[in-house]
Amino acid sequence: MTLAHFCLNCIGSYYSALYCIRKFNRQTVFIFLLKGAILLEGKQGINFAMVFISLQISCQFENIEEIKTDSSYSYFLKLRCNNCGESDDIWHDICEEERTQHDTRNAKGYNMIIKCKMCSRENTIDIVEDSKKSYVEDDTGKLKSIVTFDCRGIEPIDFDPREGFIVKSSDNGTTFDNAEIENGDWCDFDEKNGKSVAISEFKSNFVKVKGTKK
Ligand SMILES: [Zn+2]
Repeated sequence: MTLAHFCLNCIGSYYSALYCIRKFNRQTVFIFLLKGAILLEGKQGINFAMVFISLQISCQFENIEEIKTDSSYSYFLKLRCNNCGESDDIWHDICEEERTQHDTRNAKGYNMIIKCKMCSRENTIDIVEDSKKSYVEDDTGKLKSIVTFDCRGIEPIDFDPREGFIVKSSDNGTTFDNAEIENGDWCDFDEKNGKSVAISEFKSNFVKVKGTKK
């Protein structure tokens, strides 16, 4: 190797090293800024990317005309954070009548504010006004949306119906105010009409909807 070659190699290595350091620094700075932005978003809380998600149900009726929920009903949901993908195994209840005020940025508050245990981001869910629908005899066996949630930063992934359904019997029979659907079923006896009444094969599903379609 001649001296000229050696010098050229040195110069080449020097510039390569410098380029690498610069590139590394740029990447470090970029990653640092990205992490900072994620952290800041988490700390500042409320994420405003809204997604509307409807809860659909399907079931079979026996001597029932319709079932519905009112504003005091609690929807028990399992949730997943859209920021980090974390989903805990806890049922969270959301009720239209109950609102939590976060701060002055939203005087109306939210039906639910939940801080993700994993990434610390504060996510919110609201029940869309007037989005609740009855499930009637003609709907049996088919999936129908009964409520829509305005989800910001979080999504429901499972639903447990539990208690609080209003069940209206066929032929002007009895109305049951607090039916509890357990393991997909509910049954009682309508003394007014002298008939047994039942809900069976209860299933649920979530579907994303555009805008505030109810
Ligand atoms: Zn999270």
